[in-house]
Amino acid sequence: MKIFENINEWKKFRKEHPSSMGFVPTMGALHDGHLSLIKHARRENEKVIVSIFVNPTQFNDPCDLDNYPVDLDRDIASLKELEVDYLFLPTKKSIYPEDYNCKVIENNLGRILCGKTRTGHFDGVLTVVMKLFNIVGPSRAYFGEKDYQQLSLIKKMAANFFMDVEVIGCPIIREADGLAMSSRNVLLDKKHRCLAPWFYKILKNTESIDLKKRKLEEIGFKVDYLEKHDSRLYGAVFLNEVRLIDNVKL
Ligand code: AMP
Repeated sequence: MKIFENINEWKKFRKEHPSSMGFVPTMGALHDGHLSLIKHARRENEKVIVSIFVNPTQFNDPCDLDNYPVDLDRDIASLKELEVDYLFLPTKKSIYPEDYNCKVIENNLGRILCGKTRTGHFDGVLTVVMKLFNIVGPSRAYFGEKDYQQLSLIKKMAANFFMDVEVIGCPIIREADGLAMSSRNVLLDKKHRCLAPWFYKILKNTESIDLKKRKLEEIGFKVDYLEKHDSRLYGAVFLNEVRLIDNVKL
């Protein structure tokens, strides 16, 4: 696996290698959810590139950014095992040399659900994805349905800006107990990890949203939101300060 840290080096390399390129952008601390996107990309492209970049502009809470799990050695070992061709590891300074003066803003879907409770979150997500697409030059880019709102916004951005990339959504990968895999799950202590699967269990049952909220709160979740939108139920909760999101098709 070839590792690129320098944007210009990658862009030069990409020009010289015009193969079909599947791209999986991540923030690292990789788990089987990420790996499923990579396997998808592997099947549909000649080459696969993964990026690891903990994007500061999508964190509205500095503590959340400080606590975000990082495990680069383990990530590199997993990527090599999956025979990923390229790893892109840009620095913060190279991605934001201008200190975030130009950004991508979407004022509809980007302002509800996670966009409402995490101010500026999707401006940060869309901006970094636009930058990464422009640098990487992917044929196809893979995103998880776990972050369904994010996936919808990125599809919309690619279409609205006539970007030459196919944005592909991949199904949610869950633990055996139903909890959606997430890099943040490692932040849960033993007690809260045992409670966490109730989030999905309650989200997918057929009770009213009010009853679901009440049940979650009785168990110890702090409900950030639980809302229907376009025949999907979206939820975000805190469990001992750890934020979990999930969604189910209705
Ligand atoms: P992240 O590193 O959390 O920014 O996630 C990188 C990509 O992996 C995003 O497209 C996520 O939607 C996707 N992803 C994260 N967790 C899962 C999961 N449990 N199942 C499927 N995709 C996931």
